[in-house]
Amino acid sequence: MTSNELKNLTHQYVMNTYGRFPVAVERGEGARLYDFEGNEYIDFTSGIGVTDLGYGHQAWADAIAAQAKKLGHVSNLFYTEPSARLAEILCKRTGMSSVFFANGGGEANEGMIKLARKYSYDKYGEGRATIITLQNSFHGRTITTLKATGQDVFHQFFFPFTEGFRYAAANDFASLEAAAGDDVCAVMVELVQGEGGVLPLDYEYVQAVKKLCEEKDWLFLTDEVQTGVGRTGKLFAFQQYGILPDVCSFAKGIAGGMPMSGIMANEKCSGVLTPGTHATTFGANPVCAAAGLVVQETLDDAFLSEVTAKGEYLCAQIEALDLPCFGKTRGMGLMIGIEVKDGYNKGEIVNKLIENGLLVLTAGPGMRLLPPLVITREEMDKGVAIMEKALRA
Ligand SMILES: *Cc1c(COP(=O)(O)O)cnc(C)c1O
Repeated sequence: MTSNELKNLTHQYVMNTYGRFPVAVERGEGARLYDFEGNEYIDFTSGIGVTDLGYGHQAWADAIAAQAKKLGHVSNLFYTEPSARLAEILCKRTGMSSVFFANGGGEANEGMIKLARKYSYDKYGEGRATIITLQNSFHGRTITTLKATGQDVFHQFFFPFTEGFRYAAANDFASLEAAAGDDVCAVMVELVQGEGGVLPLDYEYVQAVKKLCEEKDWLFLTDEVQTGVGRTGKLFAFQQYGILPDVCSFAKGIAGGMPMSGIMANEKCSGVLTPGTHATTFGANPVCAAAGLVVQETLDDAFLSEVTAKGEYLCAQIEALDLPCFGKTRGMGLMIGIEVKDGYNKGEIVNKLIENGLLVLTAGPGMRLLPPLVITREEMDKGVAIMEKALRA
């Protein structure tokens, strides 16, 4: 098959819901992808923050194959080993108490929202179901998580949306206080807003929000679908802020490219969801969990320090280019945003980079880089050299 044949086949039979880059990917190795003609691309996207171990990772592929041969699926009506071991590791490495496994980020956030509302209902009864989220956030594509997303552009077409969300401005504590009320049960945030443009929340702001939540018995919920699993240089971004949320969701990188997500709850919230109140057929799939175990084994403390060092290195290299189209870089670990200067179009920048063999993402008003966490200095240097060649004009 050629790249063009694949593009035509896709356009004919697959629903046209994605604005796709003009690249048909056949295979990958490390942080490099190859199309059907053998052209190489340096990958600064990792499948939108998913393939943290890169492509063709031997131990990851072996664990998936071995588990698929042993037991591919049996449902949560039975006990299975890989997900129980993965839950234990996640709790021991974070201080959380229990885990519920699901399949995607939006679905994990649905579970987190259900948990928060049930916690409040069990204790206070009806009328305390509102969750405050932040403007410019992104929480998913289900009818409920679209409404939880604090951007009007997502509140279209699919009416009626789920009620019970109010929005506060990020990094503005007065705005959060103004959104308070007797009907509130929780605050949900991304500690680094991802789709909104790689915007980290201020350290002091997060401490103040956490304290207010404790005073009001609101649950503090962190959506770590994008920031979790080593992306920021800690296993979870809440560890960057020295706090333990009541509930935290994760997805994207958890199993290195296999579909898996979940929520973790602290001691106070670990027993809220009881038999019959929450479930999913595919959740805790043994093959996905076996892949997740390899991710956890790989992301030890030394590896996570390297993520921080690589992020600093890549930002420094990009700023040193001093390209006319780029302003400052920002972010945490290997979650990097680049400001695009007025007069430059980020879509055109993406296309020029692709033509020269570098894949990047956009987010909010600028560029977003989410390279595989295993990316090498050589691969980063190659990517930066492509930026210089493609964007200097
Ligand atoms: C990607 C993302 C989601 C949605 O995850 P899906 O797996 O696409 O459902 C939710 N929250 C955040 C912060 C994300 O980055």
